[in-house]
Amino acid sequence: MSPKTVPDNDALLDAPEHVLSTLEQDGSRRWLRPRLSTGKWWHRRRIVAYLLMVVFVAIPHLRIGGKPVILLDIAARKFTIFGKTFLPTDTMLLALLMLTVFVSIVLITAIAGRAWCGWACPQTVYMEFLFRPIDRLFEGTKGKGGKAKHQLSFAMQILRFAVYAVLCGFLAHTFLAYFVGTDRLAQWVRSSPIEHPVAFVVMAATLGLMLFDFMFFREQLCLIACPYGRFQSVMLDQQSMIVAYDPGRGEPRKKGRHTASDGAGDCVDCNQCVVVCPTGIDIRNGLQMECINCTQCIDACDDVMEKVGSPKGLIRYGSQDSIAGKAKKLIRARTIIYPVILLALMSGLVYAISTKSGFDARIIRKSGAPFTVYPDGTVSNEFRVRLVNRTSDTQIYSVTPDDSEEITIEVLDEDKLQLKADQSVLVPVHVKFKSSLTRGNGHKIVSATIKDQSNNVREVEFSLLGPGS
Ligand code: SF4
Ligand code: SF4
Repeated sequence: MSPKTVPDNDALLDAPEHVLSTLEQDGSRRWLRPRLSTGKWWHRRRIVAYLLMVVFVAIPHLRIGGKPVILLDIAARKFTIFGKTFLPTDTMLLALLMLTVFVSIVLITAIAGRAWCGWACPQTVYMEFLFRPIDRLFEGTKGKGGKAKHQLSFAMQILRFAVYAVLCGFLAHTFLAYFVGTDRLAQWVRSSPIEHPVAFVVMAATLGLMLFDFMFFREQLCLIACPYGRFQSVMLDQQSMIVAYDPGRGEPRKKGRHTASDGAGDCVDCNQCVVVCPTGIDIRNGLQMECINCTQCIDACDDVMEKVGSPKGLIRYGSQDSIAGKAKKLIRARTIIYPVILLALMSGLVYAISTKSGFDARIIRKSGAPFTVYPDGTVSNEFRVRLVNRTSDTQIYSVTPDDSEEITIEVLDEDKLQLKADQSVLVPVHVKFKSSLTRGNGHKIVSATIKDQSNNVREVEFSLLGPGS
């Protein structure tokens, strides 16, 4: 039997083509340290990024009409969005809201490409404008990219980890505030984790995931984990705005300063668009799924063009058609159909929210005996009034039959008619009426008026059962 031979590294075959921008030839992770290009787009993105960070931290503290701007209280199954509270029973409203968000994303992508990825995605915002600057500070690269200027000592690595942990801890607490509210969070922070173990585990898991992502996973999230990057290929068309290299102007590329009379294109093959790319790709290879439209290559190339005396914009915002010299088409199927759908959804949503009463009410028959007949001929039906207070104040409700001469409604527990904000109850009631009311077919549809102290009124129909003859 011949002995097994293990090929040495030199015997390994080279990959026939470049597979992933973050993989070395031997399959190990290629760590990216992009150079920073501080051009006009970077300045604009930086303003947007810091504004978004402030908004993210501020939202849980803001109130509209006494209610949080956003509170996704999963435990209580209540979702407050822009001061409006949605309950699990608001299926239609929640469905409209989700569809509106979904169609908005599709429309924005069809028009502006991956603008979300480059300008507003938390991954890009925090990675490029918070954590990478921290790395540059510690490693002394000052945005020059490439290898760290000095190897970090163990103590400095611990210190950098501590800075990351504090920032991620703060972000994890802010994230948790969206689900539990700032008041409860402040209370929990001051008490032992044993008193609120679930919330503590959620916060610790979020902190751990953030540390893993921003310290280790980084651009991999965009490249292999984010579904939006995958979907973009079906959401974009030839007219969608993307960050693109103009091969008609740039090719044939030629190293070094040159003029058009050399027969060369404007690209001086300086590789600057590649070394600034946070996902490690070469934009000159055309539209790629890895491109998050961060505009760093535009800034880098504009800088080079300025230095070699060529017009800026070799890499620029444009559509695939405009780069190929074709006319811009503002009116196309996507830019008509999506806005029409979006308008319809938003109108439905606004109408549904604006016409929603300050409370929900239903009168539900209690299961069991359908009716009781008393010796004096009075008939009694048992019901439960389901009330949901949707206002931000405590309310006391009244329930009055519309035909008070024939019907009386007796509330068995008057205290239950007082509801705090967003509270819901079932109030047991007895409805009494003369047996003549149901004579004939044994039932009668009647109605009651339910009012709160803020003059919200609802008319609720219900069916009485009684002797038919
Ligand atoms: S930065 Fe511009 S000039 Fe330099 S390689 Fe990229 S496209 Fe060519
Ligand atoms: S190719 Fe350009 S726009 Fe795309 S991710 Fe790289 S640097 Fe950003």
